[in-house]
Amino acid sequence: MKADATVKNPPLPKQYGEELLVFDFGEGCYLFDRSGKQYLDMGSGIAVNALGYGRSDLADIAAAQMRRLIHVSNLFATEPELELAGKIIAAAVPGGSHSSFEAVHFGNSGSEANETAIKYARLYARTKRGAGHHRLIAFSNSFHGRTMGSLSLTANPAYREPFEPLIPGSEILPFNDVSALEKSLDGNVAAVMIEPVQGEGGLNIVSRNFAKALNNLCRKYDVLLIADEVQTGLGRCGSLFASGIVGLEPDMITLAKPMAGGLPLSAVLVPEKVNDLLKPGHHATTFGGGPVTTAVASAVWDILSKPEFMAETRRKGEFLESLLASGMKEMGIKGDLLGAGLLRGFRFHSDKYDGIWCSRIIGEARNEGLIILKTGADVLRLAPPLVISDKEIKEGVNLLFKVIKNNL
Ligand code: PMP
Repeated sequence: MKADATVKNPPLPKQYGEELLVFDFGEGCYLFDRSGKQYLDMGSGIAVNALGYGRSDLADIAAAQMRRLIHVSNLFATEPELELAGKIIAAAVPGGSHSSFEAVHFGNSGSEANETAIKYARLYARTKRGAGHHRLIAFSNSFHGRTMGSLSLTANPAYREPFEPLIPGSEILPFNDVSALEKSLDGNVAAVMIEPVQGEGGLNIVSRNFAKALNNLCRKYDVLLIADEVQTGLGRCGSLFASGIVGLEPDMITLAKPMAGGLPLSAVLVPEKVNDLLKPGHHATTFGGGPVTTAVASAVWDILSKPEFMAETRRKGEFLESLLASGMKEMGIKGDLLGAGLLRGFRFHSDKYDGIWCSRIIGEARNEGLIILKTGADVLRLAPPLVISDKEIKEGVNLLFKVIKNNL
């Protein structure tokens, strides 16, 4: 007898839901639940599985490394960790001569990377300018994580309010608003954190003007500009770092989701001026940068960092965008196309197509064998594996608009 596809009241925290679909395995861009049903995955485990499922190349690297050496501690180094950090530092990063990164601080999650960057920024401001220069700025619709520091810079009140008070001195300013930024940013600020494209907050893109103002003001007051590229980085937006696409010149960059092919690994790119101040005990983590995750990540990096791979991601992103545009046109409803690269979405201009409607579309798409995501209040988001084929993109968009047509 086949197992039910879903589990009811699982022994997991209730916020994950009272009924969950149970996946069994994946192959390429497809997932299979435990009843055997197949789904085209255009969510990638929330923008994680850039290289798709069933990667025996990555599995072989992980297995070999587990046999050879599974863990030491950060009192020691390992070859895979050194190799990966070296590759990241050597890469061309946004900001040119402004941001030459000297070290990579590895961690385990996006929140942890942002938490680390916040600590480094506070340490920098305090050492350079003295106590009291600790303000932290983020922007409306931001998502930087759910640990107390990263949550302090996450805008959504539903995520924040139950856990207040958050860390003192953290502020949310309006996104892409240069005059609000000019009024608020001064030498008492330790850091500004921003996503080049807001992954969870509706796929809004940092404007060129705003990026320029941020670069200039942060430099003027020696405030550290942190680009949260946990979701946008490593190719998701068609470039290794999305900061470059929007003109941001960050002092620190945080990375995570696709880094180790689905294994937990994050990174903070640390500039020389911060690295110089770091003393033993300032910050560390037991598992971050272990040899298994970094060995896999090194192979993932080699694939993602190839210019041809990025060019292909951009092309597929444009193809996806064009199919979404014609699908929307066919529905005859005006809307916004959002995002960049293979992080795309859209919202219809009508109150009828609100967040509840989006959730219904996501549920019905799932019944049809398609996994998609929501972002912001009312945006349907597609973040397929970067290895998706044109045929699969077409299949996904056709399924999506079939479901939408039945729900107009
Ligand atoms: N920053 C951004 C931009 C994210 O999209 C996320 C996760 N959605 C995080 C931080 C937090 O990452 P994690 O869930 O790995 O802690």
